[in-house]
Amino acid sequence: MKILVVNAGSSSLKYQLIDMDTEGVIAKGGCERIGLPKSILKHKTDKGEKIIEQDMPDHKVAIRLVLEALVHPEYGAISSMKEIDAVGHRLVHSAEDFNCSVLVNDEVMEKCRNNIELAPLHQPANITGIEACMEVMPGTPMALVFDTAFHSTMPDYAYMYAIDYDDYKNYKIRRYGFHGTSHKFVSQEAAKYLNKKPEDLKIITCHLGNGSSISAVKGGKCVDTSMGFTPLCGVPMGTRSGDIDPSVVEYLCHKKGYDLAQAIEYLNKKCGVAGVSGVSSDFRDLTKAAAEGNERARLALDIFNYQCKKYIGSYAAAMDGVDCVVFTAGIGENTAEVRSAICRDMDFFGIKIDETKNLTKNDGSIRDITGKGSKVKVLIIPTNEELVIARETKALVEGK
Ligand code: ADP
Repeated sequence: MKILVVNAGSSSLKYQLIDMDTEGVIAKGGCERIGLPKSILKHKTDKGEKIIEQDMPDHKVAIRLVLEALVHPEYGAISSMKEIDAVGHRLVHSAEDFNCSVLVNDEVMEKCRNNIELAPLHQPANITGIEACMEVMPGTPMALVFDTAFHSTMPDYAYMYAIDYDDYKNYKIRRYGFHGTSHKFVSQEAAKYLNKKPEDLKIITCHLGNGSSISAVKGGKCVDTSMGFTPLCGVPMGTRSGDIDPSVVEYLCHKKGYDLAQAIEYLNKKCGVAGVSGVSSDFRDLTKAAAEGNERARLALDIFNYQCKKYIGSYAAAMDGVDCVVFTAGIGENTAEVRSAICRDMDFFGIKIDETKNLTKNDGSIRDITGKGSKVKVLIIPTNEELVIARETKALVEGK
């Protein structure tokens, strides 16, 4: 079975064609600048990379070009579109309507459209991509895999904010959490690696990338996560503030003459480690600057590491223990200094890493960096959100 995984953004469309017999990627790529001048498709197979510069006024044209590239006699990967058995789409928000992946039908799409106001930046773009595929590939089964669904198992006392209960009921204001496919994938991989059943494990998964979130996974189910109603809260990120006293918003508007939208944009785009350091949102730049003596880059890293450490501590409390801590995503997989700082002085929790193993380069495999005498396993597991989407799509299509 071959599954096309699609992740549509407002002006982009990323894809992977995965052969489910081997779970290997047969082709992958992305369209950029959809609806803008100079759109471009970058398409990769084991034959190499092909760059196609062609106007893509909308997502329908983009998906048509992707399909043409996939079946192209020279740089394609399959001989006919019929070889694509199903399409798996990433969709950011399931609200409280879905707690797992679903096959697309009119009723499902209607519910997803109704949830646009919960994720106004990403949901419309995701939906545009899905609708474009439905038009261009009628008859091919399509599945939706939500960023939020893995977190739907959180207990009410974890997902509720202490606000007027009617506002939760009427306006769906609560913690949802994001990066669910990644937290699910790495927690399942950790259980496999440890040769244990997920039901028997308490795992803290740290997805540390440009956007970062940390989850508590008990018995294979998410019981808490650091992102909230939106991806703005939790640990600080590249440009997002993470947790902050909401009164700051009013004070910011007053001091900087912002309206509400500008204040939220500021918290999303001008804060985080980029705001503190004044150097960059990229941890490669930050660690380099800090090593060269830049005090604000050092401070930005210290704030990030400290907040991650606090979340790990609080989730160990929430689960009455922890068996395994997993690091994943760009920073989690590559930035040894961050892993080391987060796990430093965690003896009370029984967390100790091996500093030499921690320095091994990312080769795409699972790395066990557990230190001598550590009660808690510490693993680096490369995330693979596309594979989760493909697996869930396959299961739905096969009726499992
Ligand atoms: P996104 O949330 O955009 O998917 P990523 O998971 O790709 O983000 O993470 C990006 C972050 O990972 C950046 O801060 C980057 O500096 C950091 N990083 C550190 N080392 C590497 C590396 N070798 N390759 C990619 N990203 C790295």
